[in-house]
Amino acid sequence: MTSSTSYESKPLPFSGPLNGISEKTVLIHHDKLYVGYVNKMKEVGQKLKEMAASGIGLDAANQSYSDLRALRDGETFTANGVYLHEDYFSVLGGDGKAEGPLADAVVEKWGSLEKFITFFSATGMAMRGWIVLAWDARLGRLKIYGCDAHNQGGVWGAIPLLVLDVYEHAYFADFGSDRKSYISTFWKNLNWKAANERFELVKNLSIS
Ligand code: FE
Repeated sequence: MTSSTSYESKPLPFSGPLNGISEKTVLIHHDKLYVGYVNKMKEVGQKLKEMAASGIGLDAANQSYSDLRALRDGETFTANGVYLHEDYFSVLGGDGKAEGPLADAVVEKWGSLEKFITFFSATGMAMRGWIVLAWDARLGRLKIYGCDAHNQGGVWGAIPLLVLDVYEHAYFADFGSDRKSYISTFWKNLNWKAANERFELVKNLSIS
């Protein structure tokens, strides 16, 4: 098992500009922001490891402020910052052609592909950070979740399949404040094949 201190950043799964999203935006997003989260996640992991080894006692921990509290808060923020970005990049670089078992399951659940895309996209207008189509292993079905921050709004037991980043850094340089156009561009670049592979891996997972 990989420890948090040895985690390495993953390269982009595609090269060149996306359809409507500039290469500059993608490279800043991946090379600076995402890699920055990976580095911070490793730093936090290392500090927690040292703290555990030093035998920190309960009296040194405090919920208003303590080093341990700051590290635990940073731990979930950076880890989710890393994982959500990896999942976001992993479903980009495709041709947007919806097909395969996930597309079929989405149609079955939401009635049509258009209805699903509209509902997911509307959630993207309603949230400040992330929209996730997940396999919720407790519910045993697909579920759309929205988050305002990396470590707020995530549901444990739900595995991301389609992830959309709606922070301004993902689109402002290309679209200004027009988030709606950015979201419609997301669908044009979607790699359904990658999303199908994740879905196949987890669709029978049940922890209820
Ligand atoms: Fe981002």
